[in-house]
Amino acid sequence: MRTPFIGGNWKMNLSLQAATEFVETINNQIPPVSEVETVLAASPLFLQTMLEHNESPLQVAAENCYYEDEGAFTGEVSPKALSEMGIKYVIVGHSERRKYFHETNDFINKKVQAVFRNHMYPIICCDETMGRYENGDHISWMVNQVTAAIQQVAATDMRHAVVAYEPSWAIGTGHTAPADAAEEGCYLIRQTIADIYSDEIANQVRILYGGSVNAENIHELMKQPDIDGVLAGKASLVPQEFVQLANFNH
Ligand code: PEP
Repeated sequence: MRTPFIGGNWKMNLSLQAATEFVETINNQIPPVSEVETVLAASPLFLQTMLEHNESPLQVAAENCYYEDEGAFTGEVSPKALSEMGIKYVIVGHSERRKYFHETNDFINKKVQAVFRNHMYPIICCDETMGRYENGDHISWMVNQVTAAIQQVAATDMRHAVVAYEPSWAIGTGHTAPADAAEEGCYLIRQTIADIYSDEIANQVRILYGGSVNAENIHELMKQPDIDGVLAGKASLVPQEFVQLANFNH
């Protein structure tokens, strides 16, 4: 049995005060980890304060990190420092990082390894464009992305990874993927992991769908056999909507 995983990604939004108030507002409304794992990724500038104000089962996560632990890398976020703060999850390879910051599969793989090396777990995002989806070459594109991201990751680590299928044609558009298309993407990711490792490992990895998820469409998505959770952008910015996502099964 895979524990459902409800993730939020604030991106470069909110203020320190809003972040603090958000955490305080939702404190009594997050289900226990035995039921649902609820994870909220925020700017590194907010993490310490969020951790201090969090009194619920919420996991505070990072949106990104570098692949070296320390050194002359001005402006980068150290995975070692994140781990020392008590951060457990780091988003890696989000489509916005791939698009605007030109992150390659190889670079993303180094970050995935750095996250595991520092005893945290990556939320590995894989995307595809509408053009690829329509041409049908999204399958090989997705298989390549997943395969490249998890190079040299030990099976003992891989079972703790979280992988998100996030078609860029659904992210931030207000139009979520139809549930069967979302399931198809998540199934493909699970099969790719099974081919590289085993069915046993693939069946332990949580696979998320991301792209315009909200408190209404989450129900149909969560009924799909290979969708273990969601990664929500916009819907995670409003405390009550995020709480509704986390309590999707109530
Ligand atoms: C995201 O950026 O990961 C995302 C899924 O955003 P949104 O929910 O706003 O589409």
